[in-house]
Amino acid sequence: MLNPQNLEQLDRLVRGELGSLVDCYKKLHANPELSGHEEQTAALLARDLRVCGYQVTEGVGKYLKNQWRGHGVLGLLVNGPGPTVLVRADLDALPIEEQTGLPYASRVKAQRDGQEVAVMHACGHDLHLASLIGSARVLARMKENWQGTLVLVGQPGEEGGGGAQAMLNDGAYRLVPRPDAALALHATAQLPAGEVACAAGNFMASLTEVEVTVYGVGAHGSAPERAKDPVVMAAQLVLALQTIVSREVNPLEPAVLTVGSIHGGTASNIIPDQVRLLLSIRAYDDAVRDGIVASVERMAAGIALAAGVPAERSPNVALRVAHPANYNDPQLTRRVTEAMSLVLGADRVQQAQPVMASEDFGFWGLNREIPTCMFWLGAADPDLFRKSQESGVPLPSLHSPFYAPLPEPALYTGVRSTVAAVLSLMGQGRVAPSVEPGT
Ligand SMILES: [Zn+2]
Ligand SMILES: [Zn+2]
Repeated sequence: MLNPQNLEQLDRLVRGELGSLVDCYKKLHANPELSGHEEQTAALLARDLRVCGYQVTEGVGKYLKNQWRGHGVLGLLVNGPGPTVLVRADLDALPIEEQTGLPYASRVKAQRDGQEVAVMHACGHDLHLASLIGSARVLARMKENWQGTLVLVGQPGEEGGGGAQAMLNDGAYRLVPRPDAALALHATAQLPAGEVACAAGNFMASLTEVEVTVYGVGAHGSAPERAKDPVVMAAQLVLALQTIVSREVNPLEPAVLTVGSIHGGTASNIIPDQVRLLLSIRAYDDAVRDGIVASVERMAAGIALAAGVPAERSPNVALRVAHPANYNDPQLTRRVTEAMSLVLGADRVQQAQPVMASEDFGFWGLNREIPTCMFWLGAADPDLFRKSQESGVPLPSLHSPFYAPLPEPALYTGVRSTVAAVLSLMGQGRVAPSVEPGT
């Protein structure tokens, strides 16, 4: 339970940790690791959690679709009877060459698919992790203010790797108790540091990545009559796909289908025998998502049929990645936003709008069996944010080589918000209505 005494204690403890957390953030920022290779990042988190008295399990994660090692970290702090609350941060960075010019900018290079790439924490996961470490330290020192079991997760492979699923496949919910509620934050350049934003219900959309291979019959470029041209079929398919969201999906249901990649052929005078397309599909409703995938299959098959492609060379439609939507449990979200308003002030807790971007945190909710809540953590320099609002020129967003959070106020807010949310769910003698122990 939050009261003036522990609010004051929380503030004091966070201020005491802030210098060290900013150093930790800068160290993480300067040493990013790609998805599946988060070895040092995971080790740093594990070390810090052990020092704070958490039971730590390392190396958690069994990937289904690639050869990555699981670098997931689970921290457990049992503090008497009460609910189990999980807080998750992600560990991985992106193959982007940092161009912020910051003194602690990344100069790291790594191998990816046999090529050297630059690596950058361009999605703010370093901020998430430093915030988790701060929350771990503060909650370990505020044990008289809460009861129950705290589970902290350092999740690898968020950026398209299926890291949440890999940890669950590896028995994360057997290695630690299954939580009664799960929380996470994500940094954003759309809010100034010092503020957060949250919304009950839809928060981030589901993501389904689909690979379509359109097969044809190759021939000399001068003899189309001997070919079944997959380039023409792929072009027809790209246009046909545009009608799924506009003509088939209920206009009141949000959905996006993007063809992000199309590759086929090697020369102007050769008709190739296949073209490969990569699609991303985003929706909130699972039936809408399934309907879009079925339409992609139907349209691809129909275009091949109309072109006279033999049945054995029908297009192949394969699902590559599928994340559930992030649906913020309304009761849990109300508790969390009330707690954050108490600590930050109600004017610093904004109402978020649902977005069609995606995040694999939703896996931790096991198809909504476990209430989850995710919130945006403002990370933009407040002065730059104000100027950007005035000029209309947006600040560099997530996944930009210029993305540059302002760490100190963002961490101060991230740790206080997270700890307040946890205390509101695990406060001594008081259990949130939606978070009953043992359910
Ligand atoms: Zn990202
Ligand atoms: Zn991210």
